[in-house]
Amino acid sequence: MKLTRRQAAGALTATLGISQAKPQQTAPAKPREVHAVWANAGDAGTTVESLRAFVAQLKRAHIHKVVMGVKEGDGSVVWHSRRFPQLISARYKDFDLVENLVREAHDQGIEVHAWLIDFYESQNGVAYRMHPEWAQLNADGKATNSEKLLDADKLPNRVYPNIWMCPAQRPGYTDQWLLPLIEELVSTYSLDGIHHDYVRYGGDVAPDTYCFCDYCLKNIPRHALLHWETGLSERQQVEIVRPRLEANWEATPDMLPAGWTSMNRREKADFILNGRTIAGGPADMRYFFYEYRVDQISRFVREAHERVKRINPKVQMTAAVFKNPIQSGRYLGQKWSDWNAWIDTYMPMSYRSHFLGDFGTYCSHLTEITSRQMEWTRRERPVYAGIYTTDLFKEEAGAKTYPATKLVLAVEAARAAKPDGIVIFSAGSLKNQGLWPHLEDIFQNA
Ligand SMILES: [Zn+2]
Repeated sequence: MKLTRRQAAGALTATLGISQAKPQQTAPAKPREVHAVWANAGDAGTTVESLRAFVAQLKRAHIHKVVMGVKEGDGSVVWHSRRFPQLISARYKDFDLVENLVREAHDQGIEVHAWLIDFYESQNGVAYRMHPEWAQLNADGKATNSEKLLDADKLPNRVYPNIWMCPAQRPGYTDQWLLPLIEELVSTYSLDGIHHDYVRYGGDVAPDTYCFCDYCLKNIPRHALLHWETGLSERQQVEIVRPRLEANWEATPDMLPAGWTSMNRREKADFILNGRTIAGGPADMRYFFYEYRVDQISRFVREAHERVKRINPKVQMTAAVFKNPIQSGRYLGQKWSDWNAWIDTYMPMSYRSHFLGDFGTYCSHLTEITSRQMEWTRRERPVYAGIYTTDLFKEEAGAKTYPATKLVLAVEAARAAKPDGIVIFSAGSLKNQGLWPHLEDIFQNA
């Protein structure tokens, strides 16, 4: 079923039970809604012909920006890297996807943003095999591939096959691997943007368990100056001069316990998560754990921005982020509401699977969250609402055809918050679900 925009708006109104506002004759012209799509290398294929067909489809659907996966989840890349030739995907050995895509997309007036999976690698990837010491560690000194998958109840022997790299270590994955990859992309190709993804700590595997590598065990307390490195070698106790216990914090007592240096990894991790800054006070030490993680991710976002803009100030920095920056700060170290100085456009992943409830609830929450995202960024940077098409069809799982109405309704729900753009995940799912022709209608004249 193909719906016109007018029909779609009517359907949305009926679904959400709201009255349709009359258009205002005197309203100022609204800036153009930007349309973007996330795509994987496989969607573009490995020949100029397949790539041209892909770009032609983007053009037909009024896509202004394609966000192309160039560093994939297994750590492989689809450009002909000179610095890391061992990372070049076997499928793209004879076809530099980035070079060809930039030429073909620019011919059609479409921007190309290079999408990188930042801190997530495969346990079989080159980075982890060469540098296992760069992986995040838990309190038992184990990497994330020691964790169980979400569906471990059904599949008790399945482990999580992926490695989250420590964002903090210097030298480490961030400055020896990720930043050089980004610099090479920007200095080699006429890209319009660099797109961060997985720019965070893991949230699906034990969010409060990483990272307790040797570097982080030393630097979490140091970051917050929980222990004086100068002056007395004896531990300074808090002096109680004010009646409210926690009001005595500001003279900055030594907040590490006696015997800290002889504690093992597990004991230190337990203290960082459950300790008290002031004996007898609340168990507040984990505040510094969360702050440390937030600051490590923000530092990387800042450094990536600085290095890219130094090479080419016109290259835009963009990011796929979780829907709520305050909560993702706590769970993922991803407090993206702090990144306006270093991110040009936010693309929050407001996917249905990131919400509870039925489809109607999702639509109303999508309007609300998009509106809040624009508040969190103080409207200083564009926000594109990110919609995952596959997620819309929870009720039709396994079906051969998919009701395009749901895509229409989701886009209209996001539009109700007046975001700067809409970004669809993904080109491949649009194709598999037969939704490209519908997207052509939805984005027409928007
Ligand atoms: Zn670490």
